[in-house]
Amino acid sequence: MGKLHHKIIVVTGAGDGIGKAASLTYAKEGADVVLVGRTRSKLERVNDEIRRTTQTDPTIVPFDLKNLDDTTANEFRARFEDQFERIDGLLHNASVLGPKVPIETYPTDAWLDVMQVNVTAPFLLTKALLPLLKKPTYASIVFTSSGVGLKGRAYWGAYAVSKFATEGMTEVLADELADTTGIRVNSLNPGGTRTSMRASAFPAEDPMSLPTPEDHMPLYVYLMSDESIGVGGEKFNPSSWQPG
Ligand code: NDP
Repeated sequence: MGKLHHKIIVVTGAGDGIGKAASLTYAKEGADVVLVGRTRSKLERVNDEIRRTTQTDPTIVPFDLKNLDDTTANEFRARFEDQFERIDGLLHNASVLGPKVPIETYPTDAWLDVMQVNVTAPFLLTKALLPLLKKPTYASIVFTSSGVGLKGRAYWGAYAVSKFATEGMTEVLADELADTTGIRVNSLNPGGTRTSMRASAFPAEDPMSLPTPEDHMPLYVYLMSDESIGVGGEKFNPSSWQPG
């Protein structure tokens, strides 16, 4: 039996990169995964692979998080309530990089888009899904951070600021939920990883020098599994995490 047997886990940005690897891995560990992402064809491919290789029952939710507001977030809750009645895990993984330019010339529309996808959408989704995350005895929320969310660097603009906000949201929510619910909240910085986002951020880098998303999966599973019950308000990074 897998470590996530019968858990219902929502993954955003499930069509590619780390979110795709997490979705496939969670399903292999027995979870029914809800795949949220903006490109339907990518979600369908992940869905097909999960159905081919596991006995679990994935659901795809093609949606551009740029368009998430209270109304659409509450529609998700209503849909999930009908379908599952509870949620055991929520991995906020989807993010956009935005332009790498100085703040002085950063385009305001791009700034707002990055903040919407990276900060406001996880806030809205969390708020809407909290009633379902409170249904099981224990649940896990994981926010995805970055090194530039701990130490700002020139030209990382809205992306870096959004990841500082992600760390802040993790701390506030973890503290709010720690004593009154069984929901644990942590942040995870995967570090440099072989994905298309990394290739856009560092075009001159040799991708083969980087770990793959699959390399990080033991930590992604740990944070969703019962092994991490009682662990909250912490910052995780695969390079400094030791299993067991
Ligand atoms: P990718 O760009 O490879 O994948 C991101 C996924 O999120 C894609 O499937 C993408 O959809 C989806 N997504 C992006 N915008 C939206 C949106 N508006 N609505 C719905 N889905 C969206 O990124 P990574 O896998 O590299 O990154 C995953 C997470 O890890 C991010 O939060 C990133 O900030 C973080 N991270 C990554 C690092 C790295 O080196 N890779 C380092 C540090 C942090 P589509 O496929 O349709 O574009």
